[in-house]
Amino acid sequence: MSVLVLGADDLAGAITELEDTYVFDTVAMRDHAADLERRAHDLGEPLLAARARLCLGHLWLRSGDVAQADRIIRVVHRWATEHGDRPLLARAHSLWSTVHRHTGDDAASLDHMVIAVELLDGAGSAYLQIWTRVKLADALGQLGSLDAARERYAEAEQWAIRLGQQRLHVGVLNNWAWTECATGHPDRADTVVTRMLESAGRYDFELEPADLDTVAGVQIANGAYAEAEELLLACIERHRRGEHEDADALPEYLLSLARARRGRADVDQAQRTLDECRDMCAARGLSALLGRVHEEQAELHAARGEYAEALAAHKAYVAAEMAAHSEQREALAQNRLAMLETAEARRDATEFRDQARRDALTCLHNRRFVDENLPPLLSGGTGCAVALLDIDHFKRLNDELSHETGDLVLIEVAKLLRAAADDLGPDAFAARLGGEEFLLALPGRSTREAAVIAATVRDAVRAHPWQELTHGRPVTVSIGVAGTDDGDRTQPALLSRADARLYEAKRAGRDRVAC
Ligand code: GH3
Ligand code: MG
Ligand code: MG
Repeated sequence: MSVLVLGADDLAGAITELEDTYVFDTVAMRDHAADLERRAHDLGEPLLAARARLCLGHLWLRSGDVAQADRIIRVVHRWATEHGDRPLLARAHSLWSTVHRHTGDDAASLDHMVIAVELLDGAGSAYLQIWTRVKLADALGQLGSLDAARERYAEAEQWAIRLGQQRLHVGVLNNWAWTECATGHPDRADTVVTRMLESAGRYDFELEPADLDTVAGVQIANGAYAEAEELLLACIERHRRGEHEDADALPEYLLSLARARRGRADVDQAQRTLDECRDMCAARGLSALLGRVHEEQAELHAARGEYAEALAAHKAYVAAEMAAHSEQREALAQNRLAMLETAEARRDATEFRDQARRDALTCLHNRRFVDENLPPLLSGGTGCAVALLDIDHFKRLNDELSHETGDLVLIEVAKLLRAAADDLGPDAFAARLGGEEFLLALPGRSTREAAVIAATVRDAVRAHPWQELTHGRPVTVSIGVAGTDDGDRTQPALLSRADARLYEAKRAGRDRVAC
């Protein structure tokens, strides 16, 4: 695949396409992803580079190198954590979920999907929205929460239909049917498969190998072994021509084929197929699937009347399960660490957000907070008034005492304002606009009511015990009040009217309210 990438926008487009591609040719796409990553580096676009790199991780996962994929995800996860990029974090967790599905840790797989969904919080591309729900449902189903899984599959199906994502719609039904079948609900699986076939027919799609495997699984569950074998041979042929699926795709098909052949009582062929499957599982680190291979081996021995061997195979199955679990302990620790980092990054992001909207000296809200929060109050139905406060002769205080004392006065005035705002209900707030200038936002109040409140604030400042701090110098404030009931409904208009009134209060002798 060659794309002539010119600038950052084109590059971002190409990466988005890669992220949201449902079916692809792994080897060619890997070169493409590596190329996009290089170009992103050259353009000095670290986020795009990280996104392209994660695509590469996904492709490694698809071609069966789970360990390599895991390494890449870890690097990208760290970057996304440091930079607080939620969509990228969500994708990393979603991929990790697949890694854990391959290694057979269903609980970790579910954990990661829950985090991915939470991180997305309704944002992200159609593909991401639909597919995270499907993967969440897969993980829930594997852990036996069938009802919760069905709910998510149904939700994902609705999304796919609503967003016109036909290929994804068939994909949702495929995973749904597979889960029903794997958890011992062949009747339900049959119903879903029928719907899948109908949808594919309506959209005029050729079914993907994974879809065919699901259909065959349902046939096996219903005793239609010969049909299943025929279908699986076609499916494997298709896969070998395409090579564009998950690491566990081909071994899954081989396992299904072995089961169909055992069903047909062709135990020799079944054994050869199972041997091939086992080798592939070992080479690709597919512990979860390997466990099911041992299980099938026990069935095969039993079918041949080799009960001692069947027992040995069963023991191997148990041993493999235990080995897989001890292997997973390291992975599990890493996993928990990643979760922790994500949680911390989320908390940091909230804290940073809040910090950026507070004044460092007084801890009151700052002008940025006002700019974000005042306009909606002004356009709301209940109206809003503001009081603009300025400390009188503050420069003199600074000069005669010290700048540090001035700071302490600012802090004390801020405390009085915050207390006043707290008494006025959850929507009222106090802010420091800069210097010795403050604002009280009084939603739901008329200019008259605000003037009364402002007068009590003025009194409270004057009556405050300043003696110790200012050695007898008074601290007073002048206040200009304005409200939306004067007709000003925009922030600039309202503040400028309040400012004009503040100036009137100063001219009239300070320590007073003008409205
Ligand atoms: P007026 O009554 O007319 O408001 O007089 P004023 O002296 O209060 O007004 P002016 O605007 O002339 O002076 C404000 C002073 O506030 C000037 C500046 O040095 C001081 N100032 C601004 N920010 C801070 C601060 O963070 N800490 C301290 N200590 N002083 C500050
Ligand atoms: Mg001033
Ligand atoms: Mg002043």
